[in-house]
Formats: sequence, C-alpha cells, structure tokens
Amino acid sequence: MKYKIRLSEPVLGFDEALGLVKVLRSKQLSQGREVKKFEQKFSKFQLNSGIAVAVNSGTSALHLGLLSAKIGIGDEVIVPAFSFAATANSVVLTGATPVFADIDIETMCLSPESVKSKITKKTRAIIIVHLFGNMPNMENFLRICKDYKLLLIEDVAQALGSKYQGRYAGTFGEFGAFSFYPTKNLTTGEGGMIYSANTNLIRNSKLLRNQGMLETYENEIVGFNNRMTEFSASIGLNQIRRLDRMLKKRKDNAKFYLDNLKNVFLPRTLEKVEHSYNQFTIRVENKVRDKLIKKLSNERIETKIYYPKSINNLDAYKVKVDLPVTDIVIDQVLSIPIHPRLTERNLLKITKIINTNT
Ligand SMILES: *Cc1c(COP(=O)(O)O)cnc(C)c1O
Repeated sequence: MKYKIRLSEPVLGFDEALGLVKVLRSKQLSQGREVKKFEQKFSKFQLNSGIAVAVNSGTSALHLGLLSAKIGIGDEVIVPAFSFAATANSVVLTGATPVFADIDIETMCLSPESVKSKITKKTRAIIIVHLFGNMPNMENFLRICKDYKLLLIEDVAQALGSKYQGRYAGTFGEFGAFSFYPTKNLTTGEGGMIYSANTNLIRNSKLLRNQGMLETYENEIVGFNNRMTEFSASIGLNQIRRLDRMLKKRKDNAKFYLDNLKNVFLPRTLEKVEHSYNQFTIRVENKVRDKLIKKLSNERIETKIYYPKSINNLDAYKVKVDLPVTDIVIDQVLSIPIHPRLTERNLLKITKIINTNT
C-alpha cells in the first residue's frame, strides 16, 4: 500500500542534486573536500564546542566512539532498553556488555534512578539516548557520571538540533554520535558523525574510520573502513543550509499537535529542553492504538510503533530484565507524521482522525 502521508520524508531539492553532479565531475568520490567541509559546517552548527569526524553511519559513530574511549571486553555500559537496537549493538561490537535500564514515563529517556541501580564495579559508561529528539535531565546524568567516575555518552541519532538550557544535544558527553539516515533530522542517505571536545578521542576515531591511518600507508593501529563518501558529505552540506528551517517546521508541526490533539498522552518535555521532534510519539491504550493505526492507514496515513519490542527482548539479546516503565510504553506508543514537508491540511486531517477515534 502506498501512503499519501508518510511517517518520515527527507527534504531534498535542486541544491542537493546539483551538489551530487559537482562531486561526479570532480572525480574525487571519497574522503575529499566535501567531507572536510561538512565536518567544519557541522562543528559550526554545534557552535564549535568540539570536533566532528564524519563516518558512514550512526552505528559506526557509536561503535568507533566507544572504541576510541577504550571501552571493550570486561566493561559494562548502561543503555536504555527502549531504543533502536544500534544503541546496544555498538556496545556488543566493542566486546563490552550492554546493561539495560528503564526509562522515565514522561520523557521516554533513561531514568536516572534506574541507571543508578544498574551501576556495578564493571560499569564504564552510560549511553543516554535523546529519544525522538527529547532530552532527559542532563544535570542528573552529569552528576551520576561525576560521582561514579563514568563516561557520559550521547546517542544523538534522533536529536540533531535539540537543546538543553540553550546548549546543543551531543555536546554534554565524552562524545555524541549522530546519524544521517533518511528518517533523521538531517540526512546524507547513510552517514554519521562523532562529535567530541576530547582531541585524543577524535584522533582515535579518525584512525579507526580509515584502517588506522592519518597519513596514507602509515597505519598506526588496526582499523575499519567506515569512511563517508563525498556524495554523502555533499548532500549533508546542502542539508545543513536547510537545517534551521527544517527544525523550525518540526517545532511548528509539534505545536499544532500539542494545541489540538485530545484524549492522548502527548510527548512531554522538561522546561529546560528544546525538543527537535524527530518523531512525534503519542501514547494511547493498546486497544485504541490498534484502531488508530487502522483508521489512519485507511486514509493512507503512515504511522509506526517505535519500538514494538525492548532491545533486551529481541532474539539477538534475550536478556531477562525487569523494566516496568519500558513495558507500559511499548504497549502504548504510536509515532505520527511530524516531518517538515507536512502541510496544514495534512496536520488537520491527522488531528481530526485521532480526535474522533479516541
Ligand atoms: C538511527 C539510530 C541509530 C543508528 O543510526 P544508523 O545511521 O542507522 O546506523 C542509533 N541509535 C538510534 C537511537 C537511532 O535512532
């Protein structure tokens, strides 16, 4: 079935197309000027509080960031079970063990209390996921990390442009890992970014993404090929020019829903948080959710359950943990279209269907 209103839709225009032709004509297809420029413009967007290393996916950004922070076998890393599997996968790929913690019902981000209860002698880091573009109370997590001498890591895949007390997500932790997959706030097709103020971590990440080389054929360590192409970087550069406008549209769309949706639990943000609304995720009773999905789908409006299973319950993990809030949320969440290409008519239609069926 073809949806008329998609859940996610990237904003791509003539500038992106022209940029790609330029890359083709330059014959420099990987690790050239576009990648460097994209890293610089990305850093500038984050107000130059750190250094950016472009890679081929958000998963690579998490993976290389963790390896660069020397996380590996014998270490435990606390992660939310209510996230995309990549958050935990990246930990497993370093040899470390993900330890699943519960979330806060209002923000759907990690709960500081649950995190604290999971800390052991082996804990090295906490990965907070700024889920759907929302953010948790950052002071709490900075304090926990200071008290227990843990690294704070930010999975910012869904939260480019989100702010806490005016400060951008991805600038609080040891590093932030961004994703540029087509559903995210900025896309390069596939792509990711490691962002950190730690020059040593940045150097390690640059080595790891390129076979352990900074200079050609001077391999200092064993690394991967997780490089970003010039095509991706070129798209990213044009996307950065649109970013503030795209983020504004997401916020305006969210405001419309927040003002007009009735009878559903709306996404809640802390006062200090500026949500970037990568997803607009409401909560309704399980039965109502099934009905809503059907009614919206009948009108060719796409919705999605982000996420239908907690990571610990996936076949790849099968870890028994008691996570009561995660269980509740999984039964109730429903993400509805929020992307920048929605029209006012789209928003009215979606709102009407939800309000008349709840
Ligand atoms: C998308 C996403 C990732 C992974 O990013 P990719 O670019 O798809 O590898 C990691 N964590 C979260 C929370 C995500 O939403």
